[in-house]
Amino acid sequence: QLCIIPSKQHGIHRSQISPGALKVTQSLQKSGFSAFIVGGAIRDILLGLEPKDFDVATNATPEQVRSIFRRSRIIGRRFRLVHVMCGHETVEVSTFRGPSLAQVDTLDMKNHTDQHGRLLRDNVFGSQEEDAARRDFTMNALFYDPSSEEIHDYLNGYSDLKAKTLCIIGEPATRYREDPVRMLRAIRLAAKLDMLIDTETAKPIGDLAPLLQNVPPSRLFDEMLKLLLSGHALSCVVDLRARGLHHGLLPMLDVILEQPLGERFITLALKNTDERIRQEKHVSPAFLFASLLWHEVLAAWNKHKLSGEKSLIALYKAMDEILLKQQKNLAIPRRFSATIIEIWVMQPRFESLAGRKPFRLLSHPRFRAAYDFMLLRCESGEVSMDLGTWWKRFVAADQDKREKMIHTP
Ligand code: ATP
Ligand code: MG
Repeated sequence: QLCIIPSKQHGIHRSQISPGALKVTQSLQKSGFSAFIVGGAIRDILLGLEPKDFDVATNATPEQVRSIFRRSRIIGRRFRLVHVMCGHETVEVSTFRGPSLAQVDTLDMKNHTDQHGRLLRDNVFGSQEEDAARRDFTMNALFYDPSSEEIHDYLNGYSDLKAKTLCIIGEPATRYREDPVRMLRAIRLAAKLDMLIDTETAKPIGDLAPLLQNVPPSRLFDEMLKLLLSGHALSCVVDLRARGLHHGLLPMLDVILEQPLGERFITLALKNTDERIRQEKHVSPAFLFASLLWHEVLAAWNKHKLSGEKSLIALYKAMDEILLKQQKNLAIPRRFSATIIEIWVMQPRFESLAGRKPFRLLSHPRFRAAYDFMLLRCESGEVSMDLGTWWKRFVAADQDKREKMIHTP
């Protein structure tokens, strides 16, 4: 039941497509293949948003695509696709996928899924219609042909999108079992696009939440980062919690959010982040994860201090412990964890207001992040606002005034 939607109905003009994606679809079509812009870009344009990137879907195999574009390479293992470089733009080209063997033949089920039904391989090519069906949500399965300016809609995605309803394709529980990350995508996309999750689509999420624990931690990290940098981190985290999805991600988030101080701190941190994203300012993932884990570090730090450890040693032990625990669920890349540790370790140094110490702290390369972090701690009520006020004045003052502000030991 393919529905072809003409340009005058959906209103997308080919000038809204990036030059690279246009060139790629045109070249593929000239070589006799079919080619469409598909996925997030079409969805975003229809909703009046600026697409992040343009993905192309085609019936050409990765090798055939590779042979048409000189500047291209095949990437991915579980899911092979081609990156075509057009000037500064990289266009991702994927070959239509069919139902994986596991979905066709129950005997193959064992070989292609883990014991919970998660798909391990996804490289079986198929028709355009089959490709639509293996995507996640109906509004993500719209194909736009820049030549005819028509949208091919196999799954009623266009009217779901217009109704602002996020609907999963197929049987919800099965689709989440195949790939539990789809549960996170549902939350993120609904928040970002201001949509409601369809009742049937939402229903199994609570029960299937534990399946996130079988997803490779690096993939969870990527998805979690997308969620936190979506500009809607706060409402996403609130929704994750409401649906019981946060356990597999930040298992301690639960505990933290139950303490009023922890909840305030995280709420403030996420609000700040959302604000910065909307102003198109830079957001540091390290800062974010440092915030999300801080109250857990505080608790562990206290525990070690109570058992007689010196303060700084106790802090190091606490940081190691929390990062290690976190690593099992969500692989925070090393380049971030180094910065996270720096931000944390600098915190006690804000308490010394005597001698050369404040000056040394001020010239630390990571001062800005650590300082913002300290202000957040003040604002959340964890430490006295007086400390924050002192530092704000110190930062704003000239050298002379700074010398006068220094406390005598
Ligand atoms: P955004 O780019 O805003 O994160 P997107 O929908 O473009 O959103 P991508 O990760 O770029 O997300 O994926 C591109 C397309 O691939 C999606 O629109 C969807 O059709 C399909 N897709 C992505 N992830 C999955 C998944 N886990 N299961 C099935 N299909 C998926
Ligand atoms: Mg995308």
